[in-house]
Amino acid sequence: MGKPLVAILSGAGVSTDSGIPDYRGPNGLWRRDPDAEKLVTYEYYMGDPEIRRRSWRMRRESGALRARPNAAHRAVAELEAAGVPVRVITQNVDGLHQRAGLPDRKVLELHGTAHGVVCTRCHVRGSMEEALARIEAGEEDPPCRECGGVLKPATVMFGERLDPVVLGDAVAVSKACEVFVAVGTSLQVQPAAGLAGVAADHGARLIIVNAEPTPYDELADEVVREPIGTALPRLLRDLREGAV
Ligand code: ZN
Repeated sequence: MGKPLVAILSGAGVSTDSGIPDYRGPNGLWRRDPDAEKLVTYEYYMGDPEIRRRSWRMRRESGALRARPNAAHRAVAELEAAGVPVRVITQNVDGLHQRAGLPDRKVLELHGTAHGVVCTRCHVRGSMEEALARIEAGEEDPPCRECGGVLKPATVMFGERLDPVVLGDAVAVSKACEVFVAVGTSLQVQPAAGLAGVAADHGARLIIVNAEPTPYDELADEVVREPIGTALPRLLRDLREGAV
């Protein structure tokens, strides 16, 4: 028998050890500050150039793009490197799973990526690094270089839909996997949270690693409350060795 396909749904809690706070969860920073939430809400962003200028400034000043992967990201990359088929479905936009060494094709970014930008008119993509260099050089709201359209971070803003292709792939992975690990997520935001239910309905072993209770705890085969930085590496090592 081959190694079981492991799906890992990772939320904000996986990146807090890397110094990235929970911005967009139900109790996240943006939800608690309506003014800040406007900067990442599609309607305001598109409708108000001042919101866009503030949004770019916020991105330039935040150190999020310079964050380093932590023990949890490394443990996931090591699981994959050990030959276990792994797919990561992440609610994070920080790219830290890939930075830890996980190949791009193994990561489904439900909320997009903070490392990229996209034109809202012609949909051409570019790098955030390049966009921030334009801010640094004095442009306050840099337009698309191809068509002059409004440029935005390649993250899914409030009021925007998840990419249906990415979501479809995430559902397929959740149905196919044999082990589904939900880690660092409160499982309160749909449709991401529902993936845990999809996996369980299709016979996967459901493991939840989160400090706080989640609505899916009763459905889980195992619930781990210990800190992610130690609990996840131990759990994935056991999976690798076939002990789970
Ligand atoms: Zn364009």
